[in-house]
Amino acid sequence: MIAKKILYWYDNNKRSLPWRRKGSSKQKEYFTLVSEFMLQQTQVTTVIPYFNNFIKNIPNFEALSKVNETKLLRYWQGLGYYSRAKNLKKSARLIIDKYNGRLPDNYDELIKLPGVGDYTASAISAIAFNQQIIPLDGNIERLLKRILNLKTEKEIKKENLHKEKKVFGQTTRSNDYVQALMEIGALLCKPRNPNCEKCPITKYCLSFKRQDFEIKKKNKKIIDKFYLATLYKNNNQLLLIKNEKFNFLKNLLIFPMKEITLSDSLLKSNKKLSVKMSNMNMNISIDFLNIKNKTKEGLWIEKSKLENYIIPTFTKKIFESVKHNL
Ligand code: SF4
Repeated sequence: MIAKKILYWYDNNKRSLPWRRKGSSKQKEYFTLVSEFMLQQTQVTTVIPYFNNFIKNIPNFEALSKVNETKLLRYWQGLGYYSRAKNLKKSARLIIDKYNGRLPDNYDELIKLPGVGDYTASAISAIAFNQQIIPLDGNIERLLKRILNLKTEKEIKKENLHKEKKVFGQTTRSNDYVQALMEIGALLCKPRNPNCEKCPITKYCLSFKRQDFEIKKKNKKIIDKFYLATLYKNNNQLLLIKNEKFNFLKNLLIFPMKEITLSDSLLKSNKKLSVKMSNMNMNISIDFLNIKNKTKEGLWIEKSKLENYIIPTFTKKIFESVKHNL
């Protein structure tokens, strides 16, 4: 009954998103893969213009498998987490070489694609191939916690949430159903002030019955790390090097950096900056060094041209915080 009510609501209220456009099954596979990669860690409204621009310039698996890295990253720039773009291209190459240009239609093969984890493989299986799998994204997870009013550490553990998904039931329209659950979470069952008045399943919702909408999240450990960034300057040029330090931003240009201890950081009286990442707080002390000859290895870039390069957000923030003193 829940499925029927949610699908009825979805048919009448769904947003018109570019990756939901009607097209051939091959196009649907491409749109689903690209959108699912973009939606990892990024909100729908942010993704829409990037998705439109991306598929306008790289319209199918063939084009994606051959695109050069500079062009690829240019269309990704601003979305962050660049390894997603690189994995997307690797997946496209595999799809062309191994799967005859078609996305594999089952979870076991999908999860072998670079950058595809359990969530993405489940979402694609359901959305592109109508398989009866319900992935747990942030929206569906919140909806589930609200319907069952799950609160304790034990109840909100991932394994338990996967078990409790059975409350959603099953339908032959699995592709629409998964998107409907995501949509209801995004538009009605929002983190704060859920719009229960418009919700089609109040009757089945324990949080509504108890008027208790607080969402408990698993405690996530955020660690503090300390770094020293050195800005080597030669006239109007700054030295940037290829990142080999941080796994998540491999090969992007960053200022030379090294990890230091908290006490080293306290001893430094120079400019400081804090940047929040998903799993850590980066506390960065910034040093300046004027050097006469450019013997240091790396790329010397004019200050005024730095914004033409694809650099991680924390590198951009370092530059922004000191550019008037350079
Ligand atoms: S009734 Fe309210 S809290 Fe319950 S699922 Fe609907 S929007 Fe969420």
